Amino acid sequence: MDNYFHAEHNSYKYVGECIYCHSKENLHDEHSIPESLNGLMILEKASCQDCGRITSRFEGEYTRQSLLTVRTVWNMKSKRSKKRRPTEFPIRFIKDGREQTINVPLEESFPLIPVVELGPPGVLATRVHKYGLKHRQYKINPFKVRDDTHLKHLAEKYGADDVAVDWQINVVGFLRMIAKIAYCISVWPLVLPISERLMWSLQYWVRRTIFGSGWEATANKKYMKLRSIFRATMLSMFGSMEMP
Ligand SMILES: [Zn+2]
Repeated sequence: MDNYFHAEHNSYKYVGECIYCHSKENLHDEHSIPESLNGLMILEKASCQDCGRITSRFEGEYTRQSLLTVRTVWNMKSKRSKKRRPTEFPIRFIKDGREQTINVPLEESFPLIPVVELGPPGVLATRVHKYGLKHRQYKINPFKVRDDTHLKHLAEKYGADDVAVDWQINVVGFLRMIAKIAYCISVWPLVLPISERLMWSLQYWVRRTIFGSGWEATANKKYMKLRSIFRATMLSMFGSMEMP
């Protein structure tokens, strides 16, 4: 199971102002990928206390609520001391139509990673989605870490006809986290003069992710597009949504 997680090497870039509100006070390092997901690509002194409080709220919620089992199974970084990590996880066993929840030990747990699949974005609202989703529609896919034979084995061991595992996700919080990661990655090549090649490859990645493969523009338009991506991302994170 260790093969699932490859994130080991970190890289750093110094920014010196908050990438969300431009404040130069109370700056902390911003992990482009959340620290609770072993945080790669660290923007140093890049998030003020107020903005950091907002981003860490939705990141923390996702990793605590939705990823507790998988993070424990994979022994990922945590602020909790090893002793305080949970050692048992609930699984529902169904026998003769009756249901019983049993807390099973870590090695018997069935971790799920809920991820959100989105329909096409507004700028491409008429684009046909691979799985038929329309603009503003989404689907939640719980990604399995262990395969179904493990559930069968559990049903046999506990003498049940069927086994069920619950999972939860705050969809808006998850999407805000993805927007934050995308924003940090798009800021990354702009904060320091770095090699042209890296800059282009990163911009290409951002462009492909957001607009799909058909997007072409002049250098100037590209910059304007990037600016509007920043604005849209900022708006979706801090502006137009209700704070939980
Ligand atoms: Zn700020």
